[in-house]
Amino acid sequence: MARLVMKFGGTSVADLDHIRNVARHVKREVTAGNDVAVVVSAMAGVTNQLVAWCREAAMLHDAREYDAVVATGEEVTAGLLAIVLEGMGVNARSWQGWQLPIMTDNAHGAARIIDINGGELIKRFKEQQQVAVIAGFQGVHKETGRVTTLGRGGSDTSAVALAAAIGAARCDIYTDVDGVYTTDPRVVARAHRLDKVAYEEMLELASLGAKVMQVRSVELGMVHNVPIFVRSSFERPEDIDPRKPPSGTLICDEGDIVEHQAVTGIAFSKDEAQISIRRVQDKPGVAAAIFGPLADANINVDMIVQTVSADGKTTDLTFTVPAADYERARGTIEKAKGSIGYERLDGATDIAKVSVIGIGMRSHAGVAAKAFKALSERNINIRAITTSEIKFSVLIDAAYAELAVRTLHTLYELDKA
Ligand code: ASP
Ligand code: MG
Repeated sequence: MARLVMKFGGTSVADLDHIRNVARHVKREVTAGNDVAVVVSAMAGVTNQLVAWCREAAMLHDAREYDAVVATGEEVTAGLLAIVLEGMGVNARSWQGWQLPIMTDNAHGAARIIDINGGELIKRFKEQQQVAVIAGFQGVHKETGRVTTLGRGGSDTSAVALAAAIGAARCDIYTDVDGVYTTDPRVVARAHRLDKVAYEEMLELASLGAKVMQVRSVELGMVHNVPIFVRSSFERPEDIDPRKPPSGTLICDEGDIVEHQAVTGIAFSKDEAQISIRRVQDKPGVAAAIFGPLADANINVDMIVQTVSADGKTTDLTFTVPAADYERARGTIEKAKGSIGYERLDGATDIAKVSVIGIGMRSHAGVAAKAFKALSERNINIRAITTSEIKFSVLIDAAYAELAVRTLHTLYELDKA
């Protein structure tokens, strides 16, 4: 017997048939004697529709009203699931964020959870074995009492935060994939599912393009040490024996992973753009003159490389930004030309970032060097490199992204046998 949080994403609650399937998963755990809190997303596509309506109503709208609108998607699912559970003889009720409450700050549209009161849920587990069905993605601002939302994909964060608040043994994330893979299986057919992945690795994978979970939910799991288990909601509930270890990927503390391979996974993203500033004067303060205005414009700069210009006297500075910010970044640098002092700007949007991740890199030497050699043998030119303790990334032409990922996947022996 344990206390569990079960979270179901949009594709898992896409219609009433799917919601009935979810209810059977819940009933299985309840029958096995577990206390269960369920967190649900809006039905697939609903949040997109709500967001579109807000924009259509007024391109510039009050973020508090945006939240009032988009929070409703999850409320529908929570109520429907509670109805279906009741119909199956499972004691259940729905909860909206303000009813628990789930307290957040007032960053409407991207609020952070400050505190969750799980007291009433625990009381009801004990007194009447009642299943709590909680609308994900939403909370309430602690001072104004207004409804807030946690940013797209925020139900994952609701679930992990709730698991921490009620001291759950595990937070199960039921989704349309059956776990976390070494890389995107659509690109590398030989990708395999990881049994375990450390929080830190998952953070890198999630921020670098593996879209399994909201990044913030992984951060929260790491801070509160909540074991997060990613598993498929499309498995037939009847085929699962709750006494046997289920199949999926456990996101856990690195100390709970016995053996670390040098490399755990490979992520890639084509949503990158590169900007090179040519013939910048090589003097103190130049980097500040470039990156200060970009930071002020809220543009995230990722890889930065400085090289000597062709003339040998000045320097070239290359960096990457999200492709969506490319034009804005160029504009910002052009505006600051006077204070920076450079000859010209070059840029490219047809580039990709490939990242290799593994806690094992801390103890294995030469992991990155091997990759550079393998890529050069494939004639893939590396435009920039960054490294950190548990990952390195290379910037390459987008046309070679798939080839690079496959090459590295094989190189680090991640191909499934
Ligand atoms: N429904 C919200 C979204 O689509 C939250 C979530 O699904 O996690 O972003
Ligand atoms: Mg999601």
